[in-house]
Amino acid sequence: MDTPRKNADASGAGRRFSRGEALELAGEAGLHDLCEAGLRARLARFGHKAYYVYNQHLNFTNVCRNACRFCAFSKRAGEAGAYAMDLKTARSKIESRLGEPIREIHIVGGLNPELPYDYYLDLVETAKTARPDAVVKAFTAVEVAHLADTYGIGDKRVLSDLRSAGLGMLPGGGAEVFAPELRAILCPEKVTGARWLAVHETAHELGIPTNATMLFGHIENWEQRIDHLLALRDLQDKTGGFNCFIPLPYQPGGNPLAAKGPDGVDLIRLMAVSRLALDNIPHLKAYWVYCGVKAAQMALWAGADDFDGTLIEENIGHAAGADTPKGLTVAELKQYIAAAGFTPVERDTFFNEV
Ligand code: SF4
Repeated sequence: MDTPRKNADASGAGRRFSRGEALELAGEAGLHDLCEAGLRARLARFGHKAYYVYNQHLNFTNVCRNACRFCAFSKRAGEAGAYAMDLKTARSKIESRLGEPIREIHIVGGLNPELPYDYYLDLVETAKTARPDAVVKAFTAVEVAHLADTYGIGDKRVLSDLRSAGLGMLPGGGAEVFAPELRAILCPEKVTGARWLAVHETAHELGIPTNATMLFGHIENWEQRIDHLLALRDLQDKTGGFNCFIPLPYQPGGNPLAAKGPDGVDLIRLMAVSRLALDNIPHLKAYWVYCGVKAAQMALWAGADDFDGTLIEENIGHAAGADTPKGLTVAELKQYIAAAGFTPVERDTFFNEV
């Protein structure tokens, strides 16, 4: 096997890493070599462009029947602070920003047993009719599986109905870390990693593109991280439906897991390894809300090519103590990207430049 240094060097030329090589790279390559290789791989694809999107987040309910130990967002029905947004409120939140060139509406929430199936379809239709020019990116695979299982209708039917209502894309949340022994500790009620992948595979078969995430920096190890990345890579080989991979640093506030969270070096290392191991998923996001703006800027130098967007009203990461703003203006996003030495390029949900 090549030395880690050679692995890192070779990766810029589009090398595919075996599991053992990826582990060796993650564990032994020097940080500088790793970042240089991640940078080279992203420069080969995108030059100095770094993407952002003008988007709006809508977290329609925080009521959830699950109790994931890393989650600070969910509430039980009736608990102080629990809410479920009615369609009128959702519409007015979208309509209140019609003067802005928002291109994507990102909708996710808890698994609220009180909300009927039609609510989900109506919410997508409401967003799409209120803002026909924006792409509705809505509901994680966990939410899709919740609907399919609650109503006994299968993932394919749910996805088809959502698409008919106006869904353009699935976000990548809910993946956490696929390792079953970790899910048993972190989120025992949540669907398995295999089911998460199956929902995405079905979406891809229906022509619905998706994103993928991994929650890291809690109790997982590099083997579990690499296995997660390679499971995504395998599915991407089969379907080609993933647009973007988003490593999400665990936020330590307000949740019972009480892990420390990743430091900056761990974050940058994982960014570079993700860029190198996921040779077939084009985009890698430094999600500024979870990473923090400064670490997201650094991540652009380790392989990331996307900064996410304006968001406007993000609630999930902030419930867990993310100390970033709840939104950024386009001017701020452009300034942060440019200050990091990259060229800000606005994109739509599907990474078409606009
Ligand atoms: S992470 Fe999602 S599924 Fe888990 S408790 Fe929070 S809202 Fe519910």
